[in-house]
Amino acid sequence: MNLRIGQGVDVHTFTDGDHVTLGGVRIPHDRGLKAHSDGDVLIHALCDALLGALALGDIGHHFPDNDPAYKGIDSRILLRRVMEELRSRGFRVVNADMTVLAEAPRLAPHIDAMRAVLAGDMGVGLDRVNIKATTNEGMGYVGRREGILAYATVLVSQGAAGEGA
Ligand code: MG
Repeated sequence: MNLRIGQGVDVHTFTDGDHVTLGGVRIPHDRGLKAHSDGDVLIHALCDALLGALALGDIGHHFPDNDPAYKGIDSRILLRRVMEELRSRGFRVVNADMTVLAEAPRLAPHIDAMRAVLAGDMGVGLDRVNIKATTNEGMGYVGRREGILAYATVLVSQGAAGEGA
């Protein structure tokens, strides 16, 4: 089996708004995330991890933020397109582990919904998708509530299906 690992990081700043979209889930908040797309920092980190695993560059290369086609786009559409790139090369996701750093909103109540969305879009079971959320203990730009930061790590495999893969 051909195994590849990938990592991705993304950050978006807060701006005026009444919700954030994370992991494809709309979460009410007194701020929004500034972005050309829907600002789903978690999906963007995940896309970068998937693209990274296949040495396919990054999300900005595939979906330029100066292209009107991607203005306000649902980031799940980008994730599904990245998955098409994986599948067309014979790869599947083994597992994905992600961490979101945000002082607010509180994400714990939304984690399972995000996992379900991302597992569905990647075509894997819930037991292969983990999302963790933490604050930054009041330090730095995350701590000052200036934005949200997300990290993603994925393992992908090509060839013979592993157990349950
Ligand atoms: Mg982004």
